[in-house]
Order: sequence, then structure tokens, then C-alpha cells
Amino acid sequence: MRVLISGGGVAGLTCAYWLDRAGHTPVVAERAPAGPLGGYGIDFSGTGYEIARRMGILERLADRPLRSDSIAYVDASGRVTGRLDRPLTEKVLRGPYLALMHTTLEAVLADAVRDRVEVRHRQSIAEVHQGEGGVGVTFADSTSEEFDVLVGADGVHSRTRELAFGAESRWARHLGFTMACYPVPDIAGLADVRTHFAEPGRQTVLYPTDVVGTSIVLFLYRDRSTDRIPRSQRAARLRTVYAGSGWHTPELLAQAPTGELFMDTLTQIELPHWSAGRVALIGDACGALTLASAQGASLAMAGGYLLADALTAHPNDCAAAFTDYEARLRPVVVARQRRTRSFARSLVPATRAGHAAQRLITRLLLRDSLVPLLRHGFGDTSSILPTTSIT
Ligand SMILES: Cc1cc2nc3c(=O)[nH]c(=O)nc-3n(C[C@H](O)[C@H](O)[C@H](O)COP(=O)(O)OP(=O)(O)OC[C@H]3O[C@@H](n4cnc5c(N)ncnc54)[C@H](O)[C@@H]3O)c2cc1C
Repeated sequence: MRVLISGGGVAGLTCAYWLDRAGHTPVVAERAPAGPLGGYGIDFSGTGYEIARRMGILERLADRPLRSDSIAYVDASGRVTGRLDRPLTEKVLRGPYLALMHTTLEAVLADAVRDRVEVRHRQSIAEVHQGEGGVGVTFADSTSEEFDVLVGADGVHSRTRELAFGAESRWARHLGFTMACYPVPDIAGLADVRTHFAEPGRQTVLYPTDVVGTSIVLFLYRDRSTDRIPRSQRAARLRTVYAGSGWHTPELLAQAPTGELFMDTLTQIELPHWSAGRVALIGDACGALTLASAQGASLAMAGGYLLADALTAHPNDCAAAFTDYEARLRPVVVARQRRTRSFARSLVPATRAGHAAQRLITRLLLRDSLVPLLRHGFGDTSSILPTTSIT
């Protein structure tokens, strides 16, 4: 089966790996140039961790961990008001986890398909024509090709989804937050601790990367607006929103790059179906959870794996394959989206009273006895992974 995958991120590369392994011919069209771009840290556990183990890439992922072993919550003066250490985190996540750069996961996945799968960088789809026996695709460079199946793995703002299912506004559920992040020198001297500083309506998070002396600063603030902010205005917007903020925030804002600054709303994607004809969606394109779930990359890998498995189990019937794939994964994604929404409501309290309550709750929650409660929000098991059709 010849499968075009639009998007060479976590979901797309995982899908390509397993399709190739099952004897299919995946082709990946990735809009970005080759090589890592920007980046942020992720917690990686559960289903994605298990798939990485099955791919034999765990060791390579573990080679480049973020240098953070604990999470601290601080007040404006830098005094620690709560701490979450690794043993407690592992209990919450029900098993091992890795903290790594998203770019590391993508790079290791790209290596896993190198020399086996055709990956076309700086390429994206412009038009899709569904037919009885295949799907015709016209690319941005005006060339056209025929494939058996088109997989949309092009993220939360998926172009494939727009072409095959309609405008993003129909499927987007905004959670009322905007986030932004960029690399900074380790000016706060926080070494190996991921540090959260919260104020009413806004939060600043600083954590070390896998490179000594470089950290990532992440800003997360309440925001009703859903408009995409032009790149040239992003640093200025952050300075306005964080005016008068405490802790190290002013120094961190002063480091904002004028060019590339990753900024987006926290948006979940909800679609009534994840496939239409010969087009199926995986990862954030159909089930974006947002960063508040800490499970997006893991479930994006699950999407790639389960779709490849279903196409292998039903090689001549993509409708049956899509139904199988969706039946396995959708309930997990829907439940996780719901929990993420409920968690997000308390993520950045809007008022002083809410903020004070959150500090108290954080202190109480970060205890062994409350692990089951935290597990409900963040834990994941690998029970959705089937005895695979792929050998
Ligand atoms: C700040 C932040 C923190 C996060 N923290 C965590 C965490 O702790 N744990 C976790 O599991 N998840 C986390 N996530 C979520 C996780 O990163 C995503 O859920 C995951 O990357 C989704 O994978 P994906 O492959 O579906 O989409 P993406 O990773 O977005 O990949 C999509 C790919 O498609 C490409 N593309 C886009 N448009 C086109 C087009 N038109 N044509 C061709 N290619 C295109 C993009 O360049 C990209 O390579 C976080 C996200 C953010 C932003």
C-alpha cells in the first residue's frame, strides 16, 4: 500500500516507521526544512514510552535527557513553596518516564526511518481529490501524485484536515490560554530544577534543556482571544501581558527573540470522525490535547502505531482499518481531553483568592498519599496497544 503522510512530526514519523516495517510504502511530506527547529521539553511516558521500547529507540532517547529531576513551585522572592521529586512523578505516571526535548524525540524518530522511508522536506499538500481506488494529491509545487491512502499528521493546525474535513474553526475548542516559549541562557542559576512561578492569570516556567547553560522559558497566561498573533508582535505582547510580574520574569522577557518565538493558543481538536474516504487523521490533527495533558506526544505515537497496525490488518479495506483504528484510540483521547480541560481550569487561577487556594492545594497534593488522585489526571497505561498485526 502506498501511503502519503502529511507531516513528519511525532505521529507522522511513527506511522511511517510501522507502515514500512509492515511492508507498505509510506512517503512523508514535511513542510519544514530538515533538522531540528526551536523546541520545548516534554514529559514522555505511558503508551508512547512503550511504543518507543518496541521500536528499540528508548536508549537513544534516554541519552539526551533534560537535566531536571524535580519540579519546584516558587513565590516572587524565589522561595520554594512546593516540590515534586522524581520517585513521586513515577508513581503518578505509573511507571518510567523520560523528560526530553521534543526535538530529540523527532530527531530519533527521523533516524529510525532514515534510508528506509522517503521524507520530502519543504513539501506540503495543496489539493486532495478522493477517488474510488485512491486519493490524488496536488502538492504546493504543483506536482500531482496518486496514493492509496492519505494520512494527515500535520498537527493541531492541520492542512489535511482543512482540505478533507473543513475549516479549523469547526473543530477547535479553545481552553482560554496562550503559551509561548523560547531558549534562554540559565540566568536564574536554577541548575537541574524545573521551576514554576505563578501569579493570578499568568505563569512563568523555567527549565533546563539537555545542553548545559541553556534553559527554556515558557509563559502560560489566561487569554480569551483566539486570534493568531503575528510573529513580529509576539515579544511585545508578552511584555504587555507580563508587565509588573515578579521573580525572574522581567530578565527572561528581556531575552525574548525578535524573530522565531513559538506562541499559540491552547486548543483541543474534536471531530465527529477521524477519517473521510481514503483520508485519516492522527496525532494533534484529530485529537490535540494541549500541553496541559503532558500526553500529546505519547498519544500521537499511539495514533501512528495503531493506524499502521489497522492498515496492516485490513490491507484491502481502508474503511475497516480506519474504523478499527478509531475504535481503539478515540475513547482514550476523548477521556484524556476531558480530564485535561478540567485540570486546565485550575492551571492558572484568575484571581488572588484562586491563586492562594492553588498554592495550598499544590502543597497538599504533592504528597505520597494523594498519588491516586494525581494518577487520575496524568497516569496512563499501555492497555490500548494491541497484540500487533505488525511483525
Ligand atoms: C510547549 C509544549 C509542551 C508540551 N508538553 C508535552 C509533554 O510534556 N508531553 C507530551 O506528551 N506532549 C506535550 N506536548 C504536546 C506534543 O508536543 C504534541 O501533542 C505532539 O507533538 C503532537 O504530535 P503530532 O505529530 O501530531 O504534531 P506535531 O508535533 O505538531 O507535528 C506536525 C508536523 O507536521 C508539519 N506540518 C505542519 N503543517 C504542515 C503542512 N501543511 N504540510 C506538511 N507538514 C506540515 C510540522 O512541521 C510538524 O513537523 C507539548 C506541546 C507544547 C507546544
